[in-house]
Amino acid sequence: MVLKSRHRIRTSDLTPSPREIQARCFAGMLEYFSLFCAAFVAATGVDCLAVAIGTAHGLYKFTPKLNIERLKEINAAVDVPLVLHGGSGTPDDMVREAVRNGIRKVNICTEFVKAFGEEYIKTQNLPGFKYSIPGLFAPSKQAGYALARAKMELFALNNNLSPL
Ligand SMILES: [Zn+2]
Repeated sequence: MVLKSRHRIRTSDLTPSPREIQARCFAGMLEYFSLFCAAFVAATGVDCLAVAIGTAHGLYKFTPKLNIERLKEINAAVDVPLVLHGGSGTPDDMVREAVRNGIRKVNICTEFVKAFGEEYIKTQNLPGFKYSIPGLFAPSKQAGYALARAKMELFALNNNLSPL
């Protein structure tokens, strides 16, 4: 049986509109975002917290813009190290600013794999190259190490670097 009512509520009849409700909820969520982060850390006991402040995984097709103000609020609200996913391709000055404001782990997997992969291809195209496991992979590993070292120095995290 289908009930038909003359008083059926349509979303277009709602005041405020669903779109406006959504906007208000989102604004409220942002207002209390750092409190939410603190509650999340306390409730879960996580060791670190990955924050969404404008980065994305993979290689960028545009320059990301980090929300440093939000990062500052989260950093002030929680006492665990903060993580930046999507660090690959994020401009150096932005990452340094993020590190200055609580980021303690920067994920750069795509850049690392790219450095490794480019060296892997380059190595095979060198004159006189002969296939061997160390001959093929050692230069690629060194390219990965070099990238990791450069990033650590760049982010001022090189205080206790030991030779690789
Ligand atoms: Zn990630």
